[in-house]
Amino acid sequence: MSDPVWLDRLRAHTVDEAWRTYDAVQAGPEGLNAFLSVDRSARGAETGRLAGIPVAVKDNLATLGLPTTCASRVLAGYVSPFEATAVRRLREAGAAVIGKTNMDEFAMGSSNENSAFGPVRNPLDRERVPGGSSGGSAAAVASGVVRIALGSETGGSVRQPAAFCGIVGIKPTYGRVSRYGLVAYASSLDNVGVFGASVAEAALGLEIIAGHDRFDATSAAVAVPDLTAAMSAVNEGRPLAGLVIGRPVEYFPATLDARIAAHCERALQQLRELGAEVRDVSLPSTDLAIPVYYIIAPAEASSNLARYDGVRFGVRAAADDLGAMYERTRSGGFGDEVTRRILLGTYVLSAGYYDAYYRRAQAVRTLIAQEFAQVFASGVHVLFTPTAPTTAFRLGEVSDPYEMYLSDIFTVTANLAGVPAMSQPIGTVDGLPVGGQLMAPHFGEATMLRVAAALEHAQRAERMS
Ligand code: GLN
Repeated sequence: MSDPVWLDRLRAHTVDEAWRTYDAVQAGPEGLNAFLSVDRSARGAETGRLAGIPVAVKDNLATLGLPTTCASRVLAGYVSPFEATAVRRLREAGAAVIGKTNMDEFAMGSSNENSAFGPVRNPLDRERVPGGSSGGSAAAVASGVVRIALGSETGGSVRQPAAFCGIVGIKPTYGRVSRYGLVAYASSLDNVGVFGASVAEAALGLEIIAGHDRFDATSAAVAVPDLTAAMSAVNEGRPLAGLVIGRPVEYFPATLDARIAAHCERALQQLRELGAEVRDVSLPSTDLAIPVYYIIAPAEASSNLARYDGVRFGVRAAADDLGAMYERTRSGGFGDEVTRRILLGTYVLSAGYYDAYYRRAQAVRTLIAQEFAQVFASGVHVLFTPTAPTTAFRLGEVSDPYEMYLSDIFTVTANLAGVPAMSQPIGTVDGLPVGGQLMAPHFGEATMLRVAAALEHAQRAERMS
């Protein structure tokens, strides 16, 4: 049997091709600034499912030989003595890791403007942001440097930039992919995620990095299904017959941009034409997700980032005594948003406020997770929603932190509930891509990807007709 078209396309994208594109798009004042470091000698292996295929990796995943800085001054030049499991698995599959991608500092942000090494530009409109925090990986795929890249997700950092850049981004089930070697932001929410130029390419990347790892106690001993095979039967007849797709009404508020809503309704109509039943459902606590996330994530971050003390990692500021050294290292090393999160997190965990904020947020998080479980138990196989409330905004346009946090309004819920979710392009508004989001029950990636592939196929067929 001949290989599918997407696989031929992936294999044809050689390392030399990656560098040709890189040289054309990356450098200069109008360059994308998508990469923080590169390895021009990377060739990959001659065998393996990704033999010789160039991939890019977000700079918060530990790599041997290339720095791991999390786009922070506090880790400038830091090289890890070990490699993240996800990166190791890509290399074992033969991939050439050509570089580390720019990001919001410590993955805190939704626009990539919080990088200590300058923002990333959106390849589709260089005056606009690529989304964040995995903006460099999204831009690397959207500009054609690579076709598969790794990112990380705590509250939407793969899906939102995928939506802003018009590509596919997957956040797997919490526990599906090892977090060993992923620099911790908020450990109960963090995931390694994958970007792809198509649904199948993202699925292949996920299949390779997924699976239990004895180095991560939170990685699940659950078999990894053949995700790419799940996609092979999507292009004929009514491939989604028998599937129920939930449309959570809270994700389609009256205030949603009508043009984004219209693309979502069109996608839902295509899913019906593919044989699925579309059903309105309710996730009533959705409006609490942003406040809950912005209590839990900073709380965990304030604890995780305590390790950057000038002693164990990276940069150390000169000072006469230990206290002053800590203070100078940390105040000089962290940018404004990271500092804001550490302060916020320390506050919500402090005596007297713990019950009022952190404990209540945990209780509501449980409620949000239960609502997802109930909807899936009622016979709904996957949910469909918009990925983000806007398209890519202009660099510098969103300066209020709270307004920036609202960019994650439709994505943080999946991280709070631990369920898999993904974004794929479903149309454009004024030339800028709109993302549609699918969410599935825990370890339901195969069904989610089957729906995504069928929708992608239907949309391509429509564009070509
Ligand atoms: N934008 C969200 C935040 O700043 C999500 C980031 C992420 O998923 N890493 O926390």
